Amino acid sequence: MTLPKIYITIDDGLDPTHSIEILSLLKKYEAKATFFWITQKAQELHDNNIALFSEILSLINTDGHEIGFHDPADYLPNLKSRIWSHFSFAEFTKGLEDLSKLTGKNIQFYRPHCLLQPLNYFYAKKLGLKYILSSPNGYINPEAFNYSDKIHELVQENTVLVLHENYTLVRSSSNGESLLPLVLDKAKEKGLVTETLSNR
Ligand SMILES: [Zn+2]
Repeated sequence: MTLPKIYITIDDGLDPTHSIEILSLLKKYEAKATFFWITQKAQELHDNNIALFSEILSLINTDGHEIGFHDPADYLPNLKSRIWSHFSFAEFTKGLEDLSKLTGKNIQFYRPHCLLQPLNYFYAKKLGLKYILSSPNGYINPEAFNYSDKIHELVQENTVLVLHENYTLVRSSSNGESLLPLVLDKAKEKGLVTETLSNR
């Protein structure tokens, strides 16, 4: 018998405070998640606090989480990123290679950091990455803190849910850490197993 599943994905890491909190919440619930990391943010934490970076990576490995690619850098969208891509193919490729080196992972999944870069779909395909968006009802607005009454609809079998663990250039807050316990409680209540995207 296979149990019903849900896929929690967490964007915009790494973050020096939230990432470790999110990992300990996942451990508490014995839940698995897929983290979409921005290469620049991973590089910064690696360079500024190698001990914390290594601790996070080792938790990801021992607890069975997964890492996906979420663009080379954080950016403010402009006309070029809306019509084409914020990055050249060379920059995109280097971002993926650097993230693979930093994490020691063979990265399989890509999610764009903003939904404004149509070329990135083709970049990802060319590099053999699977392009992952949220399910139609699976996107959790990172600036909304009044989500309690919507969790029941969001947490459904086979949904790819998107949470955010970090602030970005376009916003100064992220609600991933505060919403994750609600999501995980609801998943438990509905008998859903939280899995990584590879186990989809
Ligand atoms: Zn993002």
